[in-house]
Amino acid sequence: MLQRSRVESADASLCEAASPFERVQERIGAICEPMNIDEGIQARLRKCERELVVNFPIRMDDGKVKIFTGFRIQHNDTRGPAKGGIRYHPDVTLDETRALAVWMTLKAAVVNIPYGGAKGGVICDPKIMSQGELERLTRRYASEISILIGPEKDIPAPDVGTNPQIMAWIMDTYSMNKGYSVLGVVTGKPLEIGGSKGRFEATGRGCMLSAGLAANHLGMGLKEATVAVQGFGNVGMAAAKLLAKEGCRIIAVSDSRGGIYNPKGLDPESVLRHKTETGLVVGFQDSETVTNAELLELQCDILVPAALEDEICKANAPNIKAKLIIEGANGPTTAEADEILGDRGITVIPDVLANAGGVIVSYFEWVQGIQSFFWDEADVNEKLQYIMTKAFEEVMSISQHEKVDMRTAAYMLAIGRIAKAITLRGIYP
Ligand code: NAD
Repeated sequence: MLQRSRVESADASLCEAASPFERVQERIGAICEPMNIDEGIQARLRKCERELVVNFPIRMDDGKVKIFTGFRIQHNDTRGPAKGGIRYHPDVTLDETRALAVWMTLKAAVVNIPYGGAKGGVICDPKIMSQGELERLTRRYASEISILIGPEKDIPAPDVGTNPQIMAWIMDTYSMNKGYSVLGVVTGKPLEIGGSKGRFEATGRGCMLSAGLAANHLGMGLKEATVAVQGFGNVGMAAAKLLAKEGCRIIAVSDSRGGIYNPKGLDPESVLRHKTETGLVVGFQDSETVTNAELLELQCDILVPAALEDEICKANAPNIKAKLIIEGANGPTTAEADEILGDRGITVIPDVLANAGGVIVSYFEWVQGIQSFFWDEADVNEKLQYIMTKAFEEVMSISQHEKVDMRTAAYMLAIGRIAKAITLRGIYP
């Protein structure tokens, strides 16, 4: 089945890709075979454990009732409660949500935190909804999926189109139905209601840390490295800001409506101010406008795709000039593109490792909420760095030992851990 890659604007993507879920199933199969993973375990990993589809009404501001469709998928919870974000976007599909849930299971296992994987989404366009409509949609969706979520079962977090305010509404809705405040039901909450210091920029910080570790391995370092970032949202903006602090030159950034380029460097904080005022990055002073397709092919040292899936594919992989790709987004590179990039000697730090900073600090937030004991930002960042560095070195060691790329190595590490847990637990009854 072919599914069109998403395009939010006239700034069209070049890529058409197979279903993300089929793609991740194929990858799992290809990695399990040489590892001699038991067939029953492989079959379990190729399916999602629980899938909930909800169709629910919301009264819009004009008084009309509109029906929305949402999903919550738990892929596998063998290693701990299921964990994963909630996406609000017009192109959300069941298939995409399944793939995102699988990547969450793998990610938690790569960085060895005690979670399984889940994901949720609602087909909607938050950019054209009022705050009132968004609040009503969030509270109703949270009630609809409340049969699955809970601090011991499944813990949502922000993803594309959602933010700390939306997490606050989910926490409040769940808490009102329980009759007491349940901090551990979501992560990525505002600090005032049990959020963790450092969570907001944790995914970007993880990208910066993996870029630093990878750049050291490549003998290039971060100082003066040129960087292009696709997607100036939670992940891309924080990654750009933190990479700039490490001495990188951010030469291009983009959002769904196009990108900006200045070979001398852009100041991410000023770009953020411009985006907050105007709603776009395009139009920023002293910059040239580029399309998202052009941004991916710019001459730079490090490329950070931090938007959506399937942006790097066989059509543009031959033209990518970066030496290093840090996958801030989930699933930004197709399998065909991976092969082309590998043959061209471009190092890809895969999503399940590069963007794991978010789930790691979500784990810290959940632990802090359960213990009602909150940490300093320095503690959070230090523990994040420790876990990211350990995971990076483990993946790198498999990559070097088995002579495989970093994605294959990360999947091997994760699948080995999940398969061991499944074997130890056995099959009930
Ligand atoms: P976000 O909604 O905050 O930002 C997404 C950004 O991408 C926006 O600026 C949007 O305009 C831009 N965008 C959308 N389509 C685009 C396109 N075709 N080309 C260029 N830009 C486009 O979302 P986010 O939370 O930053 O998530 C971005 C990616 O990172 C997603 O793949 C998400 O699954 C992944 N991720 C997020 C987190 C997290 O903690 N938020 C953690 C891990 C992975």
